[in-house]
Amino acid sequence: VPEILEVEQARAVLAEHALGRRVAGVHAPDAWYLKRGASAATVGAALGGRAFVAARRRGKLLLLDTDGGGPTLGLHLGMSGRVLVDVGDGQAVLEGGDPLVYASNRDVVEWRRFGVRFADGGAFYLRDPRRLGAVEIEPDEDRLGPDAFDLSADHLARILGRSKAPAKAVLMNQARVAGLGNLLVDESLYRGGIDPARTAATVTARSRARLLRAIRDTLRILGARGGSHTGDLPRVAGAPCPRDGAPLRRGRVAGRTTYWCPDHQT
Ligand SMILES: [Zn+2]
Repeated sequence: VPEILEVEQARAVLAEHALGRRVAGVHAPDAWYLKRGASAATVGAALGGRAFVAARRRGKLLLLDTDGGGPTLGLHLGMSGRVLVDVGDGQAVLEGGDPLVYASNRDVVEWRRFGVRFADGGAFYLRDPRRLGAVEIEPDEDRLGPDAFDLSADHLARILGRSKAPAKAVLMNQARVAGLGNLLVDESLYRGGIDPARTAATVTARSRARLLRAIRDTLRILGARGGSHTGDLPRVAGAPCPRDGAPLRRGRVAGRTTYWCPDHQT
């Protein structure tokens, strides 16, 4: 499942290979995939003739800006989305996104939920077997909290300090901090020594500082290893905690399957 690290890989692929190429048309066979009133016709009219000038990201939302003050295209990879860029002339197709731990990498044509054809003959596609992603024009970026890579100590104190929800639920809430999903949050709480079910407002200033370091370490280290599935926390109930050997617990926190160490996470 793409979390911030996988979406960043997809962003980097688009930044390197989709910018500066003029849009000839869009491939939007699935009306349900287009959100906020967009249709194949309106998306085609919005993007036609324009070139992408920047590939940005806020949390898990991918953003492609167009030239001449044109609209921004928003892409959500959902649970299984990958971006494929066909650079044309039979050259390599480049990909980024879902880590394919649970998903197929077959390129079934029906899984191409959206695409942009370039005037130079190439194209890019969003391939999404589970169809839980989405495409929108001019997405509302401000419904998202700050990007997890930019999370500050002050902001973390604000979002934890006023919440009676479990710490895990606050970190998973994209309106509070954008980009962290189930695996990255479990890994960060494991590294930071915080019980995922602990009431957010009771996390002390000292634990908060440790948590912020843990989030930053998680993003940096797992990013370098290749994605959100490369954490140190084994996702196996009863497996020994790599830090202290205590049997790991599995349970549901914030509606998601959660693994934690009952010994050092308090
Ligand atoms: Zn432990």
